[in-house]
Amino acid sequence: MHSHILPQRRLGLALAVALAFAGSPASAAVTDADILNDAKTPGDVVSFGLGTQGQRFSPMTKINTSTVKNLVPAWSMSFGGEKQRGQESQPVIAGGKMFVTASYSRLFAIDAKTGKKLWKYEHRLPDGIMPCCDVINRGAALYGNLVIFATLDAQLVALDQDSGKVVWKEKLGDYAAGYSATAAPIIAKGKVITGISGGEFGAVGRIDARDPMTGKLVWTRPTVEGHMGYKYDKDGKEVENGISGTLNATWTGDLWKTGGAATWNGATYDPETNLIFAGTGNPAPWNSHNRPGDNLFSSSTVAIDADTGKITWHYQNTPHDGWDYDGVNEFVSFDYKDPKTGKMVKAGGKADRNGFFFVNDRTNGKLLNAFPFVNKITWAKSIDLKTGRPVYDDANRPGDPAQGADGKKGTVVNSSPSFLGGKNQMQMAYSPQTGLFYVPANEWSMDIWNEPVSYKKGAAYLGAGFTIKATHDDYIGALRAVDPATGKIVWENKNYAPLWGGVLTTAGGLVFYGTPEGFLKGVDAKTGKELWSFNVGTGIVAPPVSWEQDGEQMIAVTTGWGGAVPLWGGDVAKRVNYLEQGGSVWVFKLHKAM
Ligand code: CA
Ligand code: CA
Repeated sequence: MHSHILPQRRLGLALAVALAFAGSPASAAVTDADILNDAKTPGDVVSFGLGTQGQRFSPMTKINTSTVKNLVPAWSMSFGGEKQRGQESQPVIAGGKMFVTASYSRLFAIDAKTGKKLWKYEHRLPDGIMPCCDVINRGAALYGNLVIFATLDAQLVALDQDSGKVVWKEKLGDYAAGYSATAAPIIAKGKVITGISGGEFGAVGRIDARDPMTGKLVWTRPTVEGHMGYKYDKDGKEVENGISGTLNATWTGDLWKTGGAATWNGATYDPETNLIFAGTGNPAPWNSHNRPGDNLFSSSTVAIDADTGKITWHYQNTPHDGWDYDGVNEFVSFDYKDPKTGKMVKAGGKADRNGFFFVNDRTNGKLLNAFPFVNKITWAKSIDLKTGRPVYDDANRPGDPAQGADGKKGTVVNSSPSFLGGKNQMQMAYSPQTGLFYVPANEWSMDIWNEPVSYKKGAAYLGAGFTIKATHDDYIGALRAVDPATGKIVWENKNYAPLWGGVLTTAGGLVFYGTPEGFLKGVDAKTGKELWSFNVGTGIVAPPVSWEQDGEQMIAVTTGWGGAVPLWGGDVAKRVNYLEQGGSVWVFKLHKAM
């Protein structure tokens, strides 16, 4: 399928590579069909999410509730150097090679069988980059013979899978204005899809589609209402492609020009509807009194037609956000039987930073269900399923500084969840076997207040101050099994430190996740009972994956404590400051009796 865009191998380079890298695995060109089928093919992992729908479900069963106790390390590889900090990357694996990104915009190619390093790419970062939430990266995309990833200075870089040489490089944004990029790109219908970070600096969110072989733009779609979308003809000429929404409908004056809604956690793609689902971050600035209105399309799920780059539907999880409840959380496609009608529904699930789990009809965005997946939510009393809008608790919106005693600080409120979210960047998993979502949740609040602020290029654009606090003495994190149809929490596993890594679930009846304390855990998908764990020696803030190597089922996870919590966590950061940094990939397989 899509043979007209199948990448052509360049024979000259392939020959040179064969000479230079004799003994390393031969790479196989990754096709659109490989990516579309990724969830069903255990021999590779060629997309972020183990399938672009983002379910993170492996069909493999060799490692299961009976055998998981025999899981032992197969190999580990260190990212080396003095550059550590948070490692949030999901590895991708094709043709016997693993590609994993690391902190400070590094990318490693590794022999997936032995753990031998094949090459590494270290992006040269300029002074003055402004990543909000650590020097992390969440992973690479594979297409043809290329491996493509985004960098902290807001570039998209494509490397040859065999040699690690740069094939093309494109600028995504002006790092001096606060743009950066950390999300894993995805491939949708032969296009590489990227978002952008920078919502704390008034950057304007957007989704771009590019030709993955050349990096040239196909279309771009801003996620702040009022901005123009563009498409590009064969010669790269810019053609207007319709305004996003209606100018000044939900924004006052010129505020839309620096309106945020950063797409910093990337996107998922559902081939059934041909829609790209992007979560969008906070409207800028945080101080909501500066920007009356809903401030579309901030803190929303936006569904974009993969062919045209137009917004097909949107659903705003937090209209007129005043708490930095970035709705960038992944929207995961799944089908379920409606308990009332008995009909199958094409749905999508999202565990939002604002503490509610949302189920939308993924064909049109209609809200089907919404319920809390954390213990305490103060900003809204509920989500009205009829109107699709939150029922606000107005007393719990941080106050207007103009109404404060000195005009410099508004009323302080204690808000749950904190802006670090009921869930943050860490990706949940969905098992079609159990019909449950496995959500890495956190219980914390923040004292938050508003301050006057005006936009200045390259400066933080918040108009707010805050302190994060743990809600309970004995735990912050809780891995929760959530039934999207009923809203029931079926089981939970509490964790002392906040959970910040993603989840993998398997047809072997298992759920795998890592903790900041350093444990990779395998638990029963039906009950949450812990069946296996291994301590990797540093915190885990990345999602595990599984693939088949020479007939054996493997589990891999990137390790290394860091991310937003140590930088922004206030009292919580102090509580977990004993955790050590690191930077490795760990791979496990079943022990074979000698
Ligand atoms: Ca696969
Ligand atoms: Ca934000």
